[in-house]
Amino acid sequence: MDVILAKQRGEAHDRATLEAFIRGYVRGEVPDYQVAAWLMAVVWRGMTERETADLTEVMADSGERLDLGEFAYSVDKHSTGGVGDKTTLVLAPLLASLGASVAKMSGRGLGHTGGTIDKLESIPGFRSELDHETFFRVVREVGVAVTGQTKDLAPADGLLYALRDATGTVASLPLIASSIMSKKLAGGARTIVLDVKVGHGAFMRTPAEARTLAATMVAIGRHAGRTVRAVLSNMDEPLGAAVGHALEVREALATLRGGGPTDLRELVVTLAVELLEAAGLAAAADEVAAALDDGRAAARFERWVAAQGGDVSRLDDLEVTSDTADWCADANGVLASLDARRVGAAVAQLGGGRRRKGDALDLGVGAVVRAKVGDAVRVGDPLVTLHHRGGRGLEAAMATLAGAAAIRERGERRPLVLEVVR
Ligand code: URA
Repeated sequence: MDVILAKQRGEAHDRATLEAFIRGYVRGEVPDYQVAAWLMAVVWRGMTERETADLTEVMADSGERLDLGEFAYSVDKHSTGGVGDKTTLVLAPLLASLGASVAKMSGRGLGHTGGTIDKLESIPGFRSELDHETFFRVVREVGVAVTGQTKDLAPADGLLYALRDATGTVASLPLIASSIMSKKLAGGARTIVLDVKVGHGAFMRTPAEARTLAATMVAIGRHAGRTVRAVLSNMDEPLGAAVGHALEVREALATLRGGGPTDLRELVVTLAVELLEAAGLAAAADEVAAALDDGRAAARFERWVAAQGGDVSRLDDLEVTSDTADWCADANGVLASLDARRVGAAVAQLGGGRRRKGDALDLGVGAVVRAKVGDAVRVGDPLVTLHHRGGRGLEAAMATLAGAAAIRERGERRPLVLEVVR
């Protein structure tokens, strides 16, 4: 009660209070309804920088912490969630090819966003749940391993997130920042880059909100002795062209081989330069781009996939449905925005997303975006091609897309990378 009332009055908790409260919750001694009341008080009263950093450490300490001390350049990356965001698939092997060690835990998708682990599972044979020993062995041998997030990683966050979801207390800056950073701190990397998405398809709708979240997470990292940088990137339209699991892996491969969409390549290179510089492995943008163009990154991707059991010989024919339907422009003009959230939701309706945790996914369905913001379009031009399976969910997906595109007389591209917070 004292903790709830103190926060209700707007007071800051000290570390010992947060420790007792959160540990008590994880042990089942503090009931959900008291924690829910406290969360609501945090939503209204906020937390100081010091308090947010303390909460993050307490959450990170609620379970196992990975010790990556044997790796001289351990790096990690996190995205606040976007549509068509296959960045990790390109960035992780690229960084490994440039000397960094990427020991990464990734999540599965829920709702309109896809998860890296699900995307990787569209590669036949790929094992996404590695035991501790195999995970470390693959990082030592290849420089990169990605595994599903274990329940032992910041379990306090798992409990708090489910409670926030059910009590209208998700949208609080210190709670979002501590949730994300507790998992990153427990993940063990010395250097972390955060891709904070801004726009229609993102959690943060305005650059100002995104900047504040980014600065809070960078400060948490500083308090914890880690180097954290945050890149604010535009999510007014899906990233790249492909949305959907196998389609996204195909696009990631094209980018690893020096091709791929320009926005995806730009974001990958920006994140890599920030991360390598912060880790003390400075590499200029043209050196990073060279690793994409000369085959080093693609070769590392293949070694990584093989080390996790994936069948490399099948990378170029991942199953994507051949049933397609176009969703077309209904006006002449310039594409001003394409609601990424709706494109993601449409793909989920085709079978490519989960309504509930544990739902099975169709990894072969998806969408290909045919026009980017700033492109001139005419009535009847395809804007999005849906890959469906025998019409399943197609009508609902088309209805979801209705109104997703804004077409104006004139318009311009927004820069992809808005700013970097260090
Ligand atoms: N992602 C997280 O991991 N936690 C949040 O609270 C929001 C986004």
